[in-house]
Amino acid sequence: MFHVKHFDVVVVGGGHAGADAAAAAARMGASTALVTMRIGAIGAMSCNPAIGGLGKGHLVREIDAMDGIMGRAGDRAGIQYRLLNRRKGPAVQGPRTQADRKLYRAAVQALLAEEDRLTVIEGEAAAFVLDDGRCVGLRLTDGAEIRAAAVVLTTGTFLNGLIHVGDRKTIGGRVGDRASVRLAEQIRDLGLTTGRLKTGTPPRLDGRSINWARLEMQPADDDPVMLSFLNRRPFARQISCGITHTSAATHQIIRDNLARSAMYGGHIEGVGPRYCPSIEDKVVRFADKDSHQVFLEPEGLDDDTVYPNGISTSLPVEVQEAYVRTIAGLERAVITQPGYAIEYDYLDPRGLRATLESKAMPGLYLAGQINGTTGYEEAAAQGMVAGLNAALAVRQRDPVIFSRTDSYIGVMVDDLVSRGVTEPYRMFTSRAEYRLSLRADNADQRLTPMGLAIGCVREERARAFGIKMEGLDRTLVALQGSSFTPREVAAVGIAVSQDGARRRAFDLMAFPDYRRDALAALLPELADLPTEAVAQAEIEALYAQYAGRQAADAADLRKYEAMAIPADFDYRALSGLSAELTGKLERRRPENLHQARQIEGMTPAALMLLIAHLRKSARKVG
Ligand code: FAD
Repeated sequence: MFHVKHFDVVVVGGGHAGADAAAAAARMGASTALVTMRIGAIGAMSCNPAIGGLGKGHLVREIDAMDGIMGRAGDRAGIQYRLLNRRKGPAVQGPRTQADRKLYRAAVQALLAEEDRLTVIEGEAAAFVLDDGRCVGLRLTDGAEIRAAAVVLTTGTFLNGLIHVGDRKTIGGRVGDRASVRLAEQIRDLGLTTGRLKTGTPPRLDGRSINWARLEMQPADDDPVMLSFLNRRPFARQISCGITHTSAATHQIIRDNLARSAMYGGHIEGVGPRYCPSIEDKVVRFADKDSHQVFLEPEGLDDDTVYPNGISTSLPVEVQEAYVRTIAGLERAVITQPGYAIEYDYLDPRGLRATLESKAMPGLYLAGQINGTTGYEEAAAQGMVAGLNAALAVRQRDPVIFSRTDSYIGVMVDDLVSRGVTEPYRMFTSRAEYRLSLRADNADQRLTPMGLAIGCVREERARAFGIKMEGLDRTLVALQGSSFTPREVAAVGIAVSQDGARRRAFDLMAFPDYRRDALAALLPELADLPTEAVAQAEIEALYAQYAGRQAADAADLRKYEAMAIPADFDYRALSGLSAELTGKLERRRPENLHQARQIEGMTPAALMLLIAHLRKSARKVG
């Protein structure tokens, strides 16, 4: 007979959602258990060895702002930092680092070990324990029972996971791991709405068999931008990646074997990630292109494995071997692990509240890939939301709700619970209507105060944040409190209209030919202000001018929600609307803007386009 263990919160799954869920609940003071199939695999990266990127880097910064672990773990493992979209505005820049797989896993495990209210248990959850419809714990496959006031389920791709390589199928949660079948059965029996999705991964290569001398190399950034607000420089040595391209011969082999691909051979019923297509997908969908870029990313500093980013596949192994060798530099490449596709059950996220608690089964929270998302960052962000709210509910405290106006986390949760998913959901900056203010650089200003208020931010971050805000406040006071005549401004080399109006130092920062040294000539105390605060003020100044416009756009969206859309509306006539959205709108034919807004994947920019067009046609008719 097993002894029943009791906790406030129990988290199932040691992936990215589970790690940040468990850490969040423990930070909130809840006695927390993390149950996972293999303790050694906690923090494993199932696919690409990288954290962050466009939209995703924003999520990592927001997790970090609430003192979550993904950003800190990513920095401990970062081996090639690149700030994406560096040449574009800060609003769409995404911090990213390639990560050493082993270092990342070790960092996640070390950060979890620091949580003294967290107990890690190796085991497989087989069933929920229910009490009058409420989830009150778990039963493990070995018969043990764990009771908890809240359960957070983060089983990723493991529910009824089925791995495909060509026409070979094996049951598994990812290569090397068994699937979670018993729990999936109970979930279906309970009547929770499930669907099937799929994703794929490329073959791994032995780096020693790659002809690197033939390849263009991409170095890390000279001035790396960290994932966590707490870190200033990389922990690990920085490396370069190789860049190569598929060839016409690669595409020919793939076309000749399409019928043997699990994705194309009709073996998979689940829908795959549009934004992370397999090489089969790319060859078919972009038939006019005879080459696609492939990044050759080393998986670690002391690991010869290379991840060829861009050629995920579910073709048979011998076809993978043949096409890989038609790629420049890979003529003699040895595959150490074949690529594969996996399909799995997800639960319809429209069955969740904004806290990620199930409406049908109170006490149960769901986070990560199980909710139909894809990506480590999306998973970790949901894990944190679920972990925080589970801990708050246990103490009967008010929930913490992230809103579309304060975070990408809020955008994602709202998209999931109100629109659901028909394909794996990943984050993009275009999903946010307030993207000019939801920047990676100010995630701490937006969220750390909220984290401090609910009590999930530790001393070290609270102190660092306090120092930063004190410097920023002082800087803004200096910049907003001093103004100069057009003649003074022109004299330091900043072009300005000679209209006699004085301009604040802060406003000058948004001028096209603004230079920090020019402003320092006008405002000598600039040299005494913290450099980081000045840099932050420059970004704030740049966006201050757009803030009014953004608010007006958001108000327009709300105002026109009831506006009717004619049944025969010609969506193809809207230049600027993506083919994906045009297709969805034509199929759904929403009756009004409110319905159009609910369509999965609908972006604020597309809605603005629609509003402008409808208003124009209304004027013509009138
Ligand atoms: P996971 O990281 O999968 O973690 C699930 C955890 O739950 C594991 O620790 C597992 O042991 C545990 N678990 C499961 N069932 C039980 C149980 N019954 N009891 C106890 N523990 C259990 N994302 C991308 O963004 N781009 C890609 O190209 C991409 N390709 C992928 C390819 C493959 C083959 C796979 C498997 C995943 C891919 N992903 C990709 C997805 C990415 O890996 C996930 O988005 C991310 O890992 C999800 O995190 P998670 O925490 O939800 O789940």
